[in-house]
Amino acid sequence: MGAGPYAAGKPKGAAVQNNPHTTLITPKAPVAANTHGGRAKCLQRLVRLDMPVPRTVALSFDAVQRIAEGQVPDIAAILEQFDAEALLCVRPSSEDPDWGGPGAVLNIGMNDARYLDRSADMGAEAAAALYLRFVQSYALHVARLDPDVFDDIETDGREGLSLYLRAYEDETDEVFPQDRGEQLIGVLRSMARAWDGTSARLLRQAKGAPADAGLGLVIQEMIPGVGQGECGSGVLQLIDPATGMPQITGRYLSQSQGRDALGEGVAALYLEKDERGPSLEDVAPEAFADLKANAALMREKLREEMQVEFVVQNGQVHILDGVRVPRGSRAGMRIAVRLAEDGIIPPQEAVMRIDPHSLNELLHRQVHPDAERDVLATAIAASPGAATGRIVFTAAEAQASAARGEPCILVRRETSPEDVRGMHASVAVLTEKGGITSHAAVIGRGLGLPCIVGASEMRFQTKKKLLNAPDGRVFKTGDILTIDGTSGQVLAGQPEMLEAALDDCFQTLMGWADAERDIAIRANADTPADAQTARNFQAEGIGLCRTEHMFFDPGRLTVMREMIFAQTPSGRAAVLERLLPMQRQDFVQLFRIMEGQPVCIRLFDPPLHEFLPTTRSGQRELAEALDLPVSDVERRVEAMSEYNPMLGLRGVRLGVTVPEIYDMQARAIFEATLEASKEGAPVVPEVMIPLVSAKREVELVKTRIDTVAAEVATEQGQEFDYRLGVMVETPRACLRANEIAPHSAFLSFGTNDLTQMTYGLSRDDAGRFMSAYVNLGVFNEDPFHVLDGDGVGELLKLGAERGREAQPDVTLSVCGEHGGNPESIAICRALGFDYVSCSPFRVPVARLSAAQLAISSKLGG
Ligand code: PEP
Ligand code: MG
Repeated sequence: MGAGPYAAGKPKGAAVQNNPHTTLITPKAPVAANTHGGRAKCLQRLVRLDMPVPRTVALSFDAVQRIAEGQVPDIAAILEQFDAEALLCVRPSSEDPDWGGPGAVLNIGMNDARYLDRSADMGAEAAAALYLRFVQSYALHVARLDPDVFDDIETDGREGLSLYLRAYEDETDEVFPQDRGEQLIGVLRSMARAWDGTSARLLRQAKGAPADAGLGLVIQEMIPGVGQGECGSGVLQLIDPATGMPQITGRYLSQSQGRDALGEGVAALYLEKDERGPSLEDVAPEAFADLKANAALMREKLREEMQVEFVVQNGQVHILDGVRVPRGSRAGMRIAVRLAEDGIIPPQEAVMRIDPHSLNELLHRQVHPDAERDVLATAIAASPGAATGRIVFTAAEAQASAARGEPCILVRRETSPEDVRGMHASVAVLTEKGGITSHAAVIGRGLGLPCIVGASEMRFQTKKKLLNAPDGRVFKTGDILTIDGTSGQVLAGQPEMLEAALDDCFQTLMGWADAERDIAIRANADTPADAQTARNFQAEGIGLCRTEHMFFDPGRLTVMREMIFAQTPSGRAAVLERLLPMQRQDFVQLFRIMEGQPVCIRLFDPPLHEFLPTTRSGQRELAEALDLPVSDVERRVEAMSEYNPMLGLRGVRLGVTVPEIYDMQARAIFEATLEASKEGAPVVPEVMIPLVSAKREVELVKTRIDTVAAEVATEQGQEFDYRLGVMVETPRACLRANEIAPHSAFLSFGTNDLTQMTYGLSRDDAGRFMSAYVNLGVFNEDPFHVLDGDGVGELLKLGAERGREAQPDVTLSVCGEHGGNPESIAICRALGFDYVSCSPFRVPVARLSAAQLAISSKLGG
């Protein structure tokens, strides 16, 4: 074999060596991933590490493009790099290996003469197999013959070979090309053209490749993998690709080439000694040890878990290639953490390597990636994770199902606060209407409940308790569905699941992230369970406790309704007295769980009519409970109805006009503060006024709340601190932040309502046309999902600037759903906000994104 396969350091033909378009891969050759592709670059790294890599010539993107256009490079100069008798293979080298490329072609150079010398060397049968394999792939890929041309040939070996050659000649009217240069040109041209084909283009663009992505090719001397002594080929990686745990995995097949060892039904060997069967370590211990050492070196120097493609030739290991081990989110995290723990990459780099969105897959159960999916419909993925259960159509049925211990999925047109208890009892929620910030979505994320909203392609017959899939299948109460809230797919039946992975590796990565982060992360938590989740995910306090959900408990709802029906302020106050102890207990529990961390409690926000029954039977029951004529109840419900309740009597407007509710809540908060502070760390509650649009609203509410605080302090003979702040969720509050801030310890931007009001777009109805809007490019993204930096972001900026000008110490934050979205956190951080607050299950995503922002800004990114 003349100079032998590893003569890369002694280039022949300076013309090739110095040509940036057709270059022999040597340690110093001009090879880069963005000119020659990832594979060529990786091979150069392996050559630099002195690994046993066969001699390789890399063709640049430009050279390949020219080949596609008919300009052949100097083939003689390329061939001069290899021994005259060497067989070659050509493999694709796109910039990002994930973008794919045409399949490799092996054994170029095989012809009648080579067949004879190889027969002497490795035996006629083995040589015939190589030749046959080449004829076959040349016929299909270069001569573009139909695969069925060879259908009738049932023999292999020497006889098969002559039949293949004859079939080739019959079909093409030409003898099979014998010249290695001609063969190589044919292969290069077919691969270059395949890259330009429409389906290849669409496939790679779907994986994020730019329209003009280039293809490089590498021409490598073949190490046959067949012949005398121990010969074969295989792949090896040092981890289990599903989990990322250290474990040698892969396969080896004696007397084979390429990826034969991974084929189905082949008698491949394990790599390391294995109880289940023979291994490469058994048959060629030295080769195995050498291979393992090379793989470890590759991991260390390439700073990545690599899949090593190798050939054993007469007991000697050759490394053909290394590719990044394909991985899911779980393995990705473990790989990054282990590389950092082994000192191969710094922890900051491990943090940077994880896509924050991928954490969702780790924090929740998922449909197993290999499971079959019977997809009924796809809609808005409103809360990640997957769950299987029997469908139910009412909150009451959900509670009954939970009581029987049967997991259920709550199917509703849309949900309202009355459904919250049913949601608690369910394992997942599916709604016909709504968008990413509609009620079901917000509560679903808060509870960590998989949720799909806006499934309008399904028919929700909630009265008949039937759900029709677009393909005509009908599901009734008790039928089993699976909600995949990560992908937005509604699935029939029960696919296999993968459990959440909040292991040591996750905790380590999060610890590293926290060390870098420069914006605080709090959680939106309404219940003790939410607060506990927030703590488990190491949120730095509660940024938004929505208090209204506390009143939907059946024991409280009737009292609430009684309050709504009270005729006078004193009558209202008397009824509210009964709610006070319950509300105080709610807060004591939250304060205790949060152990002295800040808890921001938002005063009552929704319109009161949400607490009144909508059905006739509900109204009759209420009349009975309150001892009133039904007509009174009907009149009251009618009188309270509004054309546009989200813009009506709610939030601070209620606080100003029906102040007894806020008085009661303030008292409950302050009394709970004193009670919780007795046993633990002192509590400094934060009280937040929602939906403010004018300074005077804040003044009026503040006066009353300060009064209640003074009363509680006097009654209990004990002083305490509290912070009163404003929720900025109307455009006017942003614009007038300079007047509002002097009365506020903090301004917390409620970007859900702020987005709704800035766009004049109902957050509960946006789902109907949002996908059309995004598809048509009217909006880049759903603005309820990713904060609109241009419009809503500008209001945030104005509000922050004006607020700070008037009150430099004012704490600034976002507590809308955007608080958990990486792109939106970037906006908040750039504006210098103190914290973002998001659903408890999004806290880790927010922690990681915030850390990545801090690291990239340190790096000047
Ligand atoms: C908001 O409007 O951004 C907010 C957090 O409040 P809610 O979602 O309860 O209206
Ligand atoms: Mg709001």
